Amino acid sequence: MTASLSLAHRSPAPVGVPAGVSASGALPSLIGLTREAMAAALVAAGVPERQVRMRVAQLWHWIYVRGVSDFASMSNVSKDLRADLERKFTLARPEIVAEQVSADGTRKWLMRFPARGAGRPVEVETVYIPEEGRGTLCISSQVGCTLTCSFCHTGTQKLVRNLTAEEIVAQLLVARDRLGDYPEVRGAAPLAAPEGAMVPGEGRLVSNIVMMGMGEPLYNFDNVKQALLIAADGDGLSLSKRRITLSTSGVVPMIPRAGEEIGVMLAISLHAVRDDLRDELVPLNRKHPIKDLLDACRAYPGLSNARRITFEYVMLKGVNDAPADALELVRLLKGIPAKINLIPFNPWPGSPYECSDWDAIERFAEIVNHAGYASPIRTPRGRDILAACGQLKSESERMRIKDRRALEAGAAAAASADEGASDGGAPDRGAAPSQADLAMRAMVSGLGD
Ligand code: SF4
Repeated sequence: MTASLSLAHRSPAPVGVPAGVSASGALPSLIGLTREAMAAALVAAGVPERQVRMRVAQLWHWIYVRGVSDFASMSNVSKDLRADLERKFTLARPEIVAEQVSADGTRKWLMRFPARGAGRPVEVETVYIPEEGRGTLCISSQVGCTLTCSFCHTGTQKLVRNLTAEEIVAQLLVARDRLGDYPEVRGAAPLAAPEGAMVPGEGRLVSNIVMMGMGEPLYNFDNVKQALLIAADGDGLSLSKRRITLSTSGVVPMIPRAGEEIGVMLAISLHAVRDDLRDELVPLNRKHPIKDLLDACRAYPGLSNARRITFEYVMLKGVNDAPADALELVRLLKGIPAKINLIPFNPWPGSPYECSDWDAIERFAEIVNHAGYASPIRTPRGRDILAACGQLKSESERMRIKDRRALEAGAAAAASADEGASDGGAPDRGAAPSQADLAMRAMVSGLGD
């Protein structure tokens, strides 16, 4: 789920791609596998059954606690096994195509993932938002989106494909690599933050994650679930589920499963209090209207005042920002432990909306506050690198069926002619990415408190 973005400033030049972060995609990765799947992969690779449990624990520690990206560093694994693992698997990260650092410390990475099957490489953005006492990473779940929320730039990009669990977890690993967020590794030092930038003074640099980048996470449930359970695993990345937030535009039938099977914090992309308006802003509402959505929220497991649902509400001038809307919002949310994030809309080229006047936003916030709900007005972060609230849109494009079949046929022919042939090709993005078309929502402050 994404919102909107200001294009007010040009981005600074991206920094170069650091050595050793490019993934070839030729070998299967051990990143993003469940413990069971990792055990099965090791058995298939010839690791004796009696050793498998111990080996999985070792690898899990090296990959997620120590953050290594090669098997050679795994000093408690025998030399022969390390060499064997190196031949059969990879821990390579996706390629970092661009890295930008905002004056306020927000960082944005454009990552390229290798081709899957007959597809082409795809690119997604991941944004890191440092604040006093916390650092939040905004992660994508899909390349593009099938939904067409009218205020959202991502909604204008067709779905290319779901990200795999490996690709979702890799966004977190890359961010921790680049931030030096492996406290157990001697010598791991964070990259210098810009002067005056807020960074967490102590503890982990990535303390919170939000599934709020490109795509609808509940349309990629299995991969998102697997990735988030790995992020929350106490012997690895070990992020508290209270510091992980999944944001949905309202895929009602999947909300109970998200609560029961993943158990992370929930955010709802609400934006309207009447079905006729929400049908227009979030067309999924036609299938799952507000009442059904809020009923699912009420039943979300584990809700309490300390564990509230976040409702996101983008402020659109003359559309959803009247005092009557605020009053109706309060009425609708009655009985749901909730907080409301008010998001000033940042127009994008061709967007049909304007941002509400500041007075209207304050009046709205006052009404909601008065009813006892926290309703922070989110100040966009990272505007100078176009990482402020909003519409991530990479230039990855869906392949036409005809092109996909042609590529599949070509790949099959190449594979039989040369076993080592890769089915790669140009990244799935068309022309060089225009930063004006690459934006990530960063309206995440305060989530997962
Ligand atoms: S569901 Fe898709 S179109 Fe709607 S806000 Fe999220 S990314 Fe944008």
